[in-house]
Amino acid sequence: MGNGYKLTTYHEPAPVAMKVVTIGVTKFATRSLGMVNDIPISAWVYPENRLDGFNDYAVATDVMSYFIDNIGPYAYAKLANMQAKTQWGGLENAGTIAYFENSVTGNKEVEGLIAHEIAHQWFGNSATEKSWNHVWLSEGFATYFTILYLESVYGNERRKKELKTDKKEIIDYYKINPSPIIDLSIKDPMKVLSKNTYEKAGWVLNMLRHKLGDEVFWNGIRQYYKTYANSNVLTEDFRTVMENVSGENLESFFNQWLFIEGHPVVKWNWKYKNEKIKISIEQIQDHHTFNFPLEIGVFYGETMKTETLQIDSKSEKLDISTDKKPDKILLDPESWLLFEEN
Ligand SMILES: [Zn+2]
Repeated sequence: MGNGYKLTTYHEPAPVAMKVVTIGVTKFATRSLGMVNDIPISAWVYPENRLDGFNDYAVATDVMSYFIDNIGPYAYAKLANMQAKTQWGGLENAGTIAYFENSVTGNKEVEGLIAHEIAHQWFGNSATEKSWNHVWLSEGFATYFTILYLESVYGNERRKKELKTDKKEIIDYYKINPSPIIDLSIKDPMKVLSKNTYEKAGWVLNMLRHKLGDEVFWNGIRQYYKTYANSNVLTEDFRTVMENVSGENLESFFNQWLFIEGHPVVKWNWKYKNEKIKISIEQIQDHHTFNFPLEIGVFYGETMKTETLQIDSKSEKLDISTDKKPDKILLDPESWLLFEEN
């Protein structure tokens, strides 16, 4: 400019929510990690972390491919993965993700974090919640789409492992903070981030997927993203899309899992009599009776047979006919239901 200053103009063609606008300024080392569907993916790390950082962030290309293939087109001009001073583990700024400084170790320890922040480019950045009370549309989605990505790479056992860890945290959190995922009593946006809006909301998507089946679930997700990309959205908009795609009324599902606090706390036992497995199940929480399908794993040695029972009342007695006494019975062996065994 003739005065010793240099003017740089950045242009991002997609609309960007102000909460996810960022500029990173320091001395960086940078490398291209590759192109995915014509989107340049890059790593930006401190020069002294150059080799480890490029290695740690390289998985971003696999994550991008997975989400583009399964959800829909990426909204922004590029994806930069940046080592940064952030008070969070990561911050999903549109097109330029900030990861905490010690995310660089050289051991690829932050694959889950990278998947979470990249998932936000679709959910939270492009399709953005219209109200902070609906932030689960951002954080619950990023949480569950990380699990979906990890499941696609490492298999179903990894999904179960992640959900098991999350379930424990959800139950512990509920004991101290009995509140629903969409808690309209929260007025301070700094208070909407919690185990409810991350982990429990992720679990809700897991249950929705199971309720609809994989094909309908994914069709619904693609339709939802197509409809609300680069736009604002509320929970009822998401519900409407999923109802239209599935042909199912999801009102009670959304209501009990998102607007009502807690989860089923189940007390149960079984016995074998007259060629029947007799199962007695009681929901012992007082505030609400949940409706849900409950999978029961019936074990003969190592072989498991799954039966699904619909639970619609506080206490139910159910019979499963079988000519042999099972060795073991497990509730929800495949981790499709958020509940607590008493
Ligand atoms: Zn997040």
